[in-house]
Amino acid sequence: MIYFDNAATTKPHRDVLDSFIKVNEAVYFNPNSPHKWGLQAEKVLLQSKERIQAMLPIGQNTDVIFTSGATESNNIALKGIAYRKKQFANEIITSVLEHPSVLEVMRHLEDDGFKLKYVNITSDGRIDINHLASLMNDRVGLVTCMYVNNIMGQIQPIDEIVTLLKDYPKAHLHVDAVQALGKIPLHLEGINSVSFSGHKFNGLKGQGLLLIDNKDKLEPIVHGGGQEYGIRSGTVNLPMNVSLVKAIALALDDLNDRNHRMRHFNNELRQFFKKYKGVYINSPEDGAPQILNIAFPGVKGEVLVNAFSKSDIMVSTTSACSSKRGKLNEVLMAMGIADNKIEGSIRLSFGDLTTEDDINHFKEKFEIIYTEIKELLK
Ligand code: PMP
Repeated sequence: MIYFDNAATTKPHRDVLDSFIKVNEAVYFNPNSPHKWGLQAEKVLLQSKERIQAMLPIGQNTDVIFTSGATESNNIALKGIAYRKKQFANEIITSVLEHPSVLEVMRHLEDDGFKLKYVNITSDGRIDINHLASLMNDRVGLVTCMYVNNIMGQIQPIDEIVTLLKDYPKAHLHVDAVQALGKIPLHLEGINSVSFSGHKFNGLKGQGLLLIDNKDKLEPIVHGGGQEYGIRSGTVNLPMNVSLVKAIALALDDLNDRNHRMRHFNNELRQFFKKYKGVYINSPEDGAPQILNIAFPGVKGEVLVNAFSKSDIMVSTTSACSSKRGKLNEVLMAMGIADNKIEGSIRLSFGDLTTEDDINHFKEKFEIIYTEIKELLK
């Protein structure tokens, strides 16, 4: 099987699984229990947070909140910040490029009385920084932007946004960096909060992280026993959190190697597809290396995914989260891509375990798939 759907999820690393099992066996205690074993668990929890602060500092201070994944991190951060600021800064800026775990929160906040503004997108799928500047004012309390787009792979100008927002101290910048960690070098300096999901970089499903420059900025969304500074109540899942630290360490450890390997695969397939009439590349060349979105105008994305799947190649249409909704992908629409190209788009996404052999087998199998679909291509 050739697994080119790593942007949807990745295979857990053996060391992450081992760490999860080891902590489950050795330190299964509740970090909130007052006894000796509880205190031991609390110590491990604090050490995990210190390691994350050292690996992923976002500025002068980095508060670490463990969650179940980026969906939860995005919800906690966006609602938590927005509700805290509602009285004095109730405008929010986002873009149509965001993942549903941001966009659906935005729609909810809009229904709840916030003023929502969408920043324009340039033809290469990036935030239009001049338009963003024109939307800014002293009532903007929150700006949210993803780091790497999950469908096309374009990288957003986070540094430029950070610089722009320096003139607007009321505006909190939240970044969804789910598709960036372990793929490209991260510049987190100056971001106010950031979300990650462990399963996107060979961690486990249900492992998430929210980093914030000051946890006191957040209005709690989930109320309960007061764990995680009262922001994310519920018994702390220590084995999950410790093994997330392992996954992050592994992802950052050989980042340069992985980045180059994926860039090489990406370039190799870009060259390869040039030989085939009616096949187009959607992803920008300077995007994140692990994502290659390609269009086969005239053939429906689902038909393509099935054809590839029959040949044991796993790819996605737009993204696993929205592909079942059956509507034209808004990210590609916002970039001005023609409807028939959007309909016929698929995403190949590489991972840490992708090999040159996978690329070679893919090329061989693609010859057969192309013969089947070429009559349909426009
Ligand atoms: N943001 C982005 C950019 C994503 O790709 C995803 C996962 N598809 C999420 C957020 C949500 O992550 P999870 O499903 O792990 O909560």
